Order: sequence, then C-alpha cells, then structure tokens
Amino acid sequence: MKDAGIYIHVPFCERKCRYCDFYSVKKEETLLNAYVEELLKEIRLNASDNLDKKILTLYFGGGTPSLLGASTVGRIIDAVTKYYCTDFKEVTIEVNPNSAEDLDGYKKAGVNRLSVGVQSTDDRILKKLGRLHKAETALKVLEKGMEVFGNVSADLIIGADSEQDVSSDLDRILPRCTHLSSYMLSLEEGTPLSKAVSQKKVSIATEIEVLEQYKTIYDVCLKNGFYRYEVSNFSKLGCESVHNFAYWKMKDYLGFGPGAHSYVNGERYYNPSDVKAYVGGAHSGLSGQISERYFSLEEEKSEFIMLALRTRDGIDVAEYNRRFSEDFFERFGSVIKKLSGFLTVSSDRVSIRPEFLLVQNSIILELI
Ligand code: SF4
Repeated sequence: MKDAGIYIHVPFCERKCRYCDFYSVKKEETLLNAYVEELLKEIRLNASDNLDKKILTLYFGGGTPSLLGASTVGRIIDAVTKYYCTDFKEVTIEVNPNSAEDLDGYKKAGVNRLSVGVQSTDDRILKKLGRLHKAETALKVLEKGMEVFGNVSADLIIGADSEQDVSSDLDRILPRCTHLSSYMLSLEEGTPLSKAVSQKKVSIATEIEVLEQYKTIYDVCLKNGFYRYEVSNFSKLGCESVHNFAYWKMKDYLGFGPGAHSYVNGERYYNPSDVKAYVGGAHSGLSGQISERYFSLEEEKSEFIMLALRTRDGIDVAEYNRRFSEDFFERFGSVIKKLSGFLTVSSDRVSIRPEFLLVQNSIILELI
C-alpha cells in the first residue's frame, strides 16, 4: 500500500485579515452546513479510487477550521476512517485563538495535534495585520493545547514591522509549544495591507530587517532546543509535522473542499476556489475538479529536488535514483561540484548547509 495524507480545506473565516489572499469567505451557517454535507460526499466518492492508499495524516486547514466545531470535525474524521484504510500518525487542526474553545472536544473527536495562528505577541502588530485576537488569548490557547495534546504548533509572522521584537515573541511562544512555523509576511496585491503600504499609510520591515528577524529566530530556536528541519519550520526533536513533511517528500495527498489541491500518482488537480460551486457539486469525485496536468518527468525531478532542498535532510539520493531510474550523481555530479561550498554532500544525501538555507532559491536554480 502507498502511504498518503488527506488535506481538508475549510474556507470560512470570521473576518478577512488585512494581509490575507487565501481563499476564504465569511462564515454563514446555512452555507457552512451545506459545505459539510458536500465535503462528506466528496470524501466518500473518492474512496474507491484510493483503495491502494494508507492514510497516515489528516490535516484540517483553512480558512478557520475551528469554526466547524468539535462534533463536525468528529463526523469528518469518522467518514475518513470509515471509507479509507487509515493508520493515523497525525491529525492536525488549525485554530484561530478566538475560536478555539473546545480543545477537549477535538481530542475526543480524534485530533492529536493543534496548530495555532498566534502570528505575533504584540497587540499593536496583531491589529496592523487585522487579526481579531489579542496576544494573551493566543498564549492561553497554546498553554491549554499543550495540556490537552502535548503537541502544539504556533504560527509566527515576521517582517510585519521594523520594531517587531522577535526575541520577545519567542520568549513567550516557545515554552508553550513543540513546533514553530515562521513565515515572512508577503504583501499580496489587492489586500488592504498591501494598498496601505503602497499609499505609504503604514510601513513594514525592510528586507535587511526581515533577514535579521529570521536570524534571531534561528538562533533563539536553537538555544531553546527547537531545530530547523525546513526553511520556515522548527521543532523539538520528534515533533516535526508528519503531514507537511510528506509534501516536501512528494508523497501522495488527497485534498478535499473548495480550493483544495491533490497530488496523486504524479498528477496534480484541484477543486475550484468557490464554495457555492462546491456545494453545487463542483469537486473531485464528480466532474467539477480542474485537472491541472501530468508533470513531465523533468518537471517532477525539479520539483523533487526543490522541495527536498528546503529541508534539513535534503535530497535522499537512493530515493531519487529509485523514483527516476537514473543515477543522481551521474546526472548532477558536475553542478554539485560547482556548488560544493554551499552543500553538504555524502553518498546518500545532498543538503544545503544551514547558513545558506536563506539563499536556497539561487542554489536550487543552479541545480535545476
Ligand atoms: S484567519 Fe487565516 S485564512 Fe482567515 S483571513 Fe485570516 S489569515 Fe486568512
């Protein structure tokens, strides 16, 4: 059987954050209920095509999955367990601090890992980002999450402000979690924050300041026993995200819900980002999914190399040779030699040296 993961996209939020361009709509009870029924149908309809897969991870992402509530999350987990062969190593739900009341209920439903959208521990920055919660609320959710699950990830945004005190963020966050995802704020066209920045009404950190903030994160995490296993992800040993790791290793995953992407047997496809079309039946398992295309073999090799080099483990040479029926070093030996100052190379692995992970894009471009 083939190991795989399932991603559930929950496209509802209480309100749009000022920097966000992910697909989500304002929560509305009737639409949410219709979405849940259609999601259960999509899960069921896809099962017969995936009898060869063992589902190791389930991830509720969004949007704001915690708006579903524990009993609905339980129904979805039960449906996956009923229709698929499962051996869950990890069942994660993303929660927003303002809608994370029933953590015990999520645990009873089968969730074993929490991911909390903390983003900052400075209320001024949270307001600037348009987040609804206060820092204290987020820290309490982390604490409660550790009590209930013992395995909690915190999201932290860097680059939102020149004055952001990343050390102080980490002093408050790290003792209350086992995993940190730290993403750089990206100004997406059309968002209120992007407009405010272009009109010079607010400013965000400069590139150099962002690099300094990232370096602080790397140093403080290391001191606190959080090691970096991917460019933006740090964890205590043994608390790496199994689900996300599977993306970087290009394992199969099925995505359900509007806007969810799937990667199965080299083919990528996705559902339209439109919840109304979704409840009308536009999704995988029916005729509505948009089939992207088969990756060409060369594209798949590039993707494999690019994703693997984001991780600390780097490229698994034996896996590359097996997957693509060619010798990695015969194909890339000369360019590896050229880049040797940036890489750690052994007969079975090639990875980017930690101090160069931030310039990984230029290194990867040379390789592929
Ligand atoms: S909660 Fe998350 S998905 Fe929803 S608007 Fe804010 S950033 Fe976007």
